[in-house]
Amino acid sequence: MVKDIVIVGGGAAGWMTAINLLVNINNLIEASTITFGRPPIKNKSIKNFDNIKVTLIASEDIPVIGVGEGTLPDMQHFLGGLNLNVDDINGTKKLGIEYINWYSKSSGSWYHPFTFGDFDTHYNNLFYKYKNNNLTFEEVFSDIAVSKEKHGCHIEVSKLISKLKSKCIDMGCNFITNTVKDCKFNDDKSIKSVILNDNTEIRGDYFVDCTGFRRVLMSKMETTFIDLSDKFLCNSAIATHIDLKNEKEYHWTKCTALSSGWVWNIPLQDKVGIGYVYSDKFISDDDAKKELNEYLNIEGDYQLLKWTPGILKEPFVKNCAAVGLSAGFIEPMEATNHGAQSLLISNLVNILDGINNKRNIDIDRINEYIRTWYDNIGNFILSNYFLSKRIDSNFWQYFNNTELPKDIKNIINMLFEMGEICGHPNVLLAKGAPIGQIAPTNLSWFVKLVGYHINYKTGDFDGND
Ligand SMILES: Cc1cc2nc3c(=O)[nH]c(=O)nc-3n(C[C@H](O)[C@H](O)[C@H](O)COP(=O)(O)OP(=O)(O)OC[C@H]3O[C@@H](n4cnc5c(N)ncnc54)[C@H](O)[C@@H]3O)c2cc1C
Repeated sequence: MVKDIVIVGGGAAGWMTAINLLVNINNLIEASTITFGRPPIKNKSIKNFDNIKVTLIASEDIPVIGVGEGTLPDMQHFLGGLNLNVDDINGTKKLGIEYINWYSKSSGSWYHPFTFGDFDTHYNNLFYKYKNNNLTFEEVFSDIAVSKEKHGCHIEVSKLISKLKSKCIDMGCNFITNTVKDCKFNDDKSIKSVILNDNTEIRGDYFVDCTGFRRVLMSKMETTFIDLSDKFLCNSAIATHIDLKNEKEYHWTKCTALSSGWVWNIPLQDKVGIGYVYSDKFISDDDAKKELNEYLNIEGDYQLLKWTPGILKEPFVKNCAAVGLSAGFIEPMEATNHGAQSLLISNLVNILDGINNKRNIDIDRINEYIRTWYDNIGNFILSNYFLSKRIDSNFWQYFNNTELPKDIKNIINMLFEMGEICGHPNVLLAKGAPIGQIAPTNLSWFVKLVGYHINYKTGDFDGND
């Protein structure tokens, strides 16, 4: 029986985990709303949660990452479930992503919109319309119903964290400000307690590692970090904010290809988040700064961020779960990491529900599902670099001279041959099995392939119209 849950880390992942657990414990609202709109956990199934205690430990000496302003549409459900909206966190509506100059250096834009509603009908209509008529990309895009009511969000992470933190404390979360320096283990290699800098020992039945790239708990557990840096070259970013006045109004994330990666422009209510994501194998940090200064026409003061692209083989191991950057991070494109957090949290709640109700939970299958999710997102991200025809730098020439990875080739072939990659985007599985959705959807792939001028009728994916 799990009675004491200890979360280590007070970034977005830590507080999102805490609020989800507290909401389920307090039976406040439909659990499926708060767990980012993801089926199929229903409040009814969350039994034996009543006397659970949630403790969150966060270090004052280790800052949160501070970036992560783009989100998927499920963030809207999450905020709504907590009676929050984008205005509370300096946020704006996000209708999708505009990809600028990816096909060639001055090719202009293609859009990856969020879509809602009857997905299958929508996709099929669009697909067959395009296939059977000679529609242009602009015509296809204008046909995609981007609703102004339903949308994703751009958010200010520090504001989200402070809202979640005060709600969690109000709901009874035991908050400890300290640094975890070690762990003690039970005989079965599960965690018994964490030891703080002042030698206090905090015991728990279940632990959640939300310590970001440090993976303070997970680095001590029997799981492996799958290093994906050979596949995903972007491993660095420089980030800043600029004055909103410099920008014309837009309601989507801009993603502009530069010499060795790409830049995000994320409009918030009073400023614009900017970040150049690049591969330091192809450009130095100093040259990246120079290039971003030229792009923005300013002398910017940038936060430098470095990571090793990769994921944990098992984000759930023994009595410990990883949520957030500790579970994995590929790169910021497509803004999926808050979404990954939601996926991990939904599965965590499912696991705890299973433990407390003595139901069998297939942890191996859940771990495998999470890996597949990251894999699918990873292929979607990577395909942008490979489908580009840019050759104006060593970075782009590398992708141009390297064969399209087999996985991506297969996905594209499936789209051409069957009109779809998967039967249905939603996978509703039995209790105890993984929870989540297949992402990205057929429609996402479809708009991307059209965006890269791929001939849908011949299946020619060498980029020739
Ligand atoms: C360049 C970049 C751009 C990104 N853009 C996006 C985006 O657009 N959309 C998106 O969804 N995601 C994005 N992400 C990911 C997103 O920022 C994170 O998923 C999210 O902010 C959650 O971070 P976290 O809470 O896991 O880690 P952090 O914010 O790093 O928090 C870690 C916490 O752990 C604590 N801690 C660490 N060690 C200890 C210890 N020993 N003891 C106690 N506490 C400890 C720290 O004090 C901190 O509170 C981006 C990431 C990067 C690197």
